[in-house]
Formats: sequence, C-alpha cells, structure tokens
Amino acid sequence: MFDKILIANRGEIALRILRAAKELGIATVAVHSTADADAMHVRLADESVCIGPPAARESYLNIPSIIAACEITGADAVHPGYGFLSENARFAEVLAHHNIGFIGPKAEHIRTMGDKIEAKRTALSLGIPCVPGSEGGIDDIDAAKRVAAEIGYPVLVKAASGGGGRGMKVARTEADLEQAVGLARTEAKAAFGDDAVYLEKYLEKPRHIEVQILGDGRGDAVHLAERDCSLQRRHQKVWEEGGSPALNEAMRAEIGGICSAAMKKLGYRGAGTIEFLYEDGRFYFIEMNTRIQVEHPVTEMITGIDLVNEQIRVAAGSDLSVRQDEIRVEGHAIECRINAEHPATFRPSPGQITYYHPPGGLGVRVDSAAFQGYRIPPNYDSLIGKLIVHGRTRNECLMRLRRALDEFVIDGVDTTLPLFRTLVRNADVQNGAYDIHWLEGFLEAGGLAT
Ligand code: ADP
Repeated sequence: MFDKILIANRGEIALRILRAAKELGIATVAVHSTADADAMHVRLADESVCIGPPAARESYLNIPSIIAACEITGADAVHPGYGFLSENARFAEVLAHHNIGFIGPKAEHIRTMGDKIEAKRTALSLGIPCVPGSEGGIDDIDAAKRVAAEIGYPVLVKAASGGGGRGMKVARTEADLEQAVGLARTEAKAAFGDDAVYLEKYLEKPRHIEVQILGDGRGDAVHLAERDCSLQRRHQKVWEEGGSPALNEAMRAEIGGICSAAMKKLGYRGAGTIEFLYEDGRFYFIEMNTRIQVEHPVTEMITGIDLVNEQIRVAAGSDLSVRQDEIRVEGHAIECRINAEHPATFRPSPGQITYYHPPGGLGVRVDSAAFQGYRIPPNYDSLIGKLIVHGRTRNECLMRLRRALDEFVIDGVDTTLPLFRTLVRNADVQNGAYDIHWLEGFLEAGGLAT
C-alpha cells in the first residue's frame, strides 16, 4: 500500500480523497495555489505545498510543480480527483517515469477514451452498443452529407476531443449541416486545440444513464449499477440519481453486465463511468470517463461501497474488495450540485460565505469544502458543495431531500439552492418523467418564477 498520497486537486473532491486516505491510514499532502492558501483541504492534510499562482494552468495544471511537490514531501502516489489533470495521459506517464503511482487507469486507456472517435471504436469492439454515426471522423462536407443521409436527420456534430458539452451542434436538415460542421470545428479548435469532428444520430428525447464500473487492471471488473443524470443545463449535470427511475432490476443487470464484461476484456484499472443515452428501451454509448466523477456519492449511498478507497487499493496493486454477487442496490439516492450562481440566470457569484449551516440527520450527506467565512475564489468552478440524500424508496428520498434543502443555509453569495427547492416539488421530477431537455424547457418557460 502507499505510504503518502499527494492530492492534485482542490475543493470538495480534495476533501473526499483525504477522507479515504485517512481511513486507510495513509499520510496526505495537499497542494494549493496562492488563492487557496486558507482552503479546507490545506487545513485537513498532514502537509501542504503551494504550487503556484491562482491561474489553474500555473498551479493545479502545472505538472513540473506537482512532481516537485511529490519529491519534496516524499509522496509515493498522486490522486488527481476530477477535472484538472485527471484525464491527462501524459501526466500519468510522467509520474510513472518518476516512480510515483497514479491513482487512476493505465495511461493507454485514458488516451483511448479521451479521443471520442477512438473511444467509440473501442466500445463497439468490446460489445457496447453505440449511437449510429460516422465511422471515425468527418473529413469533408460531402462525406458528412452521405453519413447524415444514411443515419437520417437530425444529426449531431461532435468534437473528437469534446468535453463539457462544447463543440456540439445539431443539424436538422442537409441545409444546416455545412454550418453545423463549421461551427463545431471552430468551437472545438478554440476549446481543445483539435478540430476533428464526427457525426451521430441526434436523439430527440433520451435520458442520460451512466454505469459505474471498477476494475483491478488484471482482468477483474464489476459494475455498481447506474446513475440517471438527465436533469441537465447546457449539457451540464445538475441533479443525479440512482437507480434510474426508467430502469428495472433486469435492465440494470443487463447493461451493467455488458459494461463489466467489456472492462474485464480491456483490463481496465480503477473507477470509470460508461455513459449512455437511453431512448425507447435502448442504450447508446456516448463516452467513457476514466476518473472518479462528481456524482459518485450517489453510487456510494446505494451500494455502501467507498469508490475512492477502491481506486487507491487497485492503484497499489491490491484486488477489489468486492465481488459482483456482493454488490446490492439498497434504496435510492439523489445528489444536487449546489453552485455559487444566481438560481435563475446562473451568473457565477464568487465571494465570502457569511453564514453556513449544512443539513444533517439520517440519510443526509454533504460533500463540501465550504465553511462560514470562506471566500469562494473567482478562479475555479462554482461548486460550493453536493447534497446527497438517501432513502429506502425514491419517495422517501424525495421527502428527505425536500427537508434537507429547506435546512441548508448559505448566506453571502447567490446559490442554486432555490432551484433545487423548486425542482423537488415539481410533479414531473417527482414522477421521474424527464429527459435530457426537460430542465432547459422548464427554465425557459420561467419555471423558477412560479
Ligand atoms: P461531453 O464530453 O462534452 O460532456 P457527451 O458526449 O458526454 O459530451 O455529451 C454530453 C451531453 O450531450 C449528453 O449528456 C447529452 O445531453 C447530449 N448528447 C450527446 N450526444 C447526443 C446525441 N447523439 N443525441 C442527443 N443528445 C446528445
């Protein structure tokens, strides 16, 4: 097992990793930018190292600074969290070169899944169902027109290096296609430095359902059921729950089994998420995330399995602590991402939290690095914390979420708490009757005002 883990991240996920390391008896090192000198992850770690100025590319994305911090402190492994360097294959390779463990997948798997065209090809070869689309990238507009005519309009132009919903354009007719390809290419070039794009059938009313998997890197892998992340705004997840209101036990076992079999074949190591769109009873792979995800606590609440603990174990060469037949889904869990943003305009609202009172009680978990007096810096994402609630049934979970949201007090900055207080009382949400476009429709219709 590792002796000392350096956490190359900040905020709530840095705390989450600290907690897992402490429970394993492993010493911890926090790194931080000058903007985060007073942050909670710095206070709770055994040691800390300042790695640069506020701008992420000069601190949390600065590989030489992070390697130097490992060498100064004698850390023998790095956990990258999510975002920042978590899906950077070169970072994993540089760490290996310095004999430092990477708590994540093999570099080759990060690289394959990071390129969406390559990821889709791999998924197909592993028996995972995919959205119909172009085989590989689209080189010219005539090729794009041919593929679009074959799969049928509407189609979606997507960036090979895409992420965060950027570089995606819908074309409803052949006349739209040329412009959609051009726009997607320009946006992808600007955001990712890569203008490769591909085509997919645009699904009109899908749900977003993703399967959590764990692999030991030596051919063993399990699945830990699914999360439904259909409540999205601008392709960003807002509310996540597990299990999906749309699946039953047999469907869960079937898609989960396909995913775990594929990961066994791949020899995948660590935690990963296989994301699907789900429409009319069918699953279509869209991408795989080769890291721990923001919404992982939903799975932890319904299975009782500590995913970060498993990540650390397998990165150190141990076996998974659970077998598939020991993994059971108990009850229901929902996560709300509470952001420092205006609840209706979503304008970021950095600044000082003047009063902070998180909810508690049975089945309530708050993953956050916030505290009273904490100043949210303007340099990073606006996540204040995640409220995760568990209940024996979905109804119990919804009632518990309602009361937990009402207890939560965060003063001094705008937050998205009012949005969730409205959503939890909405009939469509209560009935689980929503697809990936539902939330935007609701917001456009002025749902928050009523
Ligand atoms: P990113 O990596 O940018 O998040 P994804 O491929 O994961 O991109 O897609 C993000 C979101 O975009 C999905 O959750 C879904 O809402 C939408 N989306 C992606 N592909 C399709 C598709 N073929 N049809 C309809 N919506 C899609």
